[in-house]
Amino acid sequence: MLKKILMCFTLLLALSCAATVSAKSAELTGIDAFDLDNDTVRIEISYKGGKLDTSNVAVESNGDILFVDLDNTSLGRVSRVAGTKIQSGARDFIDKIIANKTQERHTRIQIHLRSEIDGNVSFMIEPANRSEKKSARIVVDVKKSFAQDTWGNFNGDGRIIVLDPGHGGSDSGAVGPTGVREKDVSLAVSLKAQQLLNESGYQVVMTRTTDIDVAAPGVPDSTELQARVDKAPPNADIFISVHCNAFSNSRANGVETYFAPGAVKGSRLALLLNEELERLGELNNRGVKAARFYVMTHSKCPASLIELGFITNPREEQLLADNDYQQKLAQAITNAVNRYFNQGGFD
Ligand SMILES: [Zn+2]
Repeated sequence: MLKKILMCFTLLLALSCAATVSAKSAELTGIDAFDLDNDTVRIEISYKGGKLDTSNVAVESNGDILFVDLDNTSLGRVSRVAGTKIQSGARDFIDKIIANKTQERHTRIQIHLRSEIDGNVSFMIEPANRSEKKSARIVVDVKKSFAQDTWGNFNGDGRIIVLDPGHGGSDSGAVGPTGVREKDVSLAVSLKAQQLLNESGYQVVMTRTTDIDVAAPGVPDSTELQARVDKAPPNADIFISVHCNAFSNSRANGVETYFAPGAVKGSRLALLLNEELERLGELNNRGVKAARFYVMTHSKCPASLIELGFITNPREEQLLADNDYQQKLAQAITNAVNRYFNQGGFD
C-alpha cells in the first residue's frame, strides 16, 4: 500500500486548477540532491516559467521509493535522469532519481533510496533568490535517521539506540481479552519512542518498523531473536526490547524490566527504565529482574527487556492500546535513555 505522507488539499487543488487552466506550466530545470546536515538529505527540484504552490505538489513514499508528483509542470530540460545531480554525501542514501511525464502538464519524480524510510518527509516551495543565484524550487527534505540499515553512514556524535518491538508478523505475541495484540502495542510504542529519541538527537535503529517477522515466519525462536540482535550496529550504545506481559490469571498486573544476570550497565538501564515507567503512576511496579532472555544475553551492548504491562489484564489491555498512554510510555523510555547518558537535564 502506498503511504500518503502529505496529501494535496483537494479543495485548493480544484480551485487552483480552475484558476490556472490557461496559466503557463512551470518547466523543470534541474534536480539536485545533497546532504543538508548529518540527518537530512535535501532534494531541490528547480523550475522556471509557471507558478507553483503547495497544492501542485504531492509527496508519497512506497518503501524505498519516494514519489514527488507535480502538476502544472513540464519536464523541460530534465528528461529522465538527465539534469539530475546527486552529490557525493547523498549518494550513500539515494540510489537514483528518475523524472517522467505522467500526463499532460503532470510530472513525477521518483527518488530511489538505498533503504526504506518511515515517513519523515517534508516539502516546501522556495521562490527564486537572485542573490543566491537560485531559481524557484520545490524543496523536499528526507530524514535519514528514519531509514533502516543506514547506520554505517552516520558520522554524527548521536548515540545509537536499538529499539526492538517484540514479536511481529506471524508471531502476535500475547493477545488480550478483547484481542489487542502484543506485537501491535510493542511496535506502536517503539515507533513513538523512535520519534522522541530522534528529536533528542539520538540515532535510532529499529529491528522492525512494520508488522513483520525480522528473520522469517516459522523459523526457530533463536533464529528470529538472533536476527533482531544482528540489527544492532557494532557501535550501538544500548538495546531495548519492548514487550507486554501475559499470564493465565487475568488479575496479574504491573510493569517490570529485565537485564541479563551480571550485566552492570544493563541493570542500570533496566533500573532507569523501571523508574520512568513507574513514574507514569498507572501500574503496579513489579520491579527490576535478572533473566536470561535471548536478546539480552546475546546483545553486544548494554540491553534491557521491558514489559509495559499485562495485556491479559483487562484494564491494562485498554491502557496499552490507548494512543495517549502509548505516547507516555514512549516518553518514559526516552527519559530513561536520557538519564542513562546523563542528558536532557536529568541528574
Ligand atoms: Zn513478548
